[in-house]
Amino acid sequence: MGFTDKWLICADCGRQFLWDAGEQAWYHARQLENQPRHCKSCRERRRDERLHSLRHYSKVSCHRCGSPTYVPFVPLGTKPIYCRTCYSNAHA
Ligand SMILES: [Zn+2]
Ligand SMILES: [Zn+2]
Repeated sequence: MGFTDKWLICADCGRQFLWDAGEQAWYHARQLENQPRHCKSCRERRRDERLHSLRHYSKVSCHRCGSPTYVPFVPLGTKPIYCRTCYSNAHA
């Protein structure tokens, strides 16, 4: 099975990028039928964005005013959580 380097157009930034024979073999070995649609830098950026969005934010209600607020952890319910406004008021 021979693979030859191929130039593809990134769907994101529109730049050409090289899909080289080694990568084609990799795709083939994994039975991936679709060609990569994004260049390497866009792929890395998208991965970063995905990781970023996966970072867990929990929606909770402010203990004081009841307005929704987001915290970067899973609340255990042992401590009251305040929205940013109430928090800064309490610490003013
Ligand atoms: Zn790109
Ligand atoms: Zn509040």
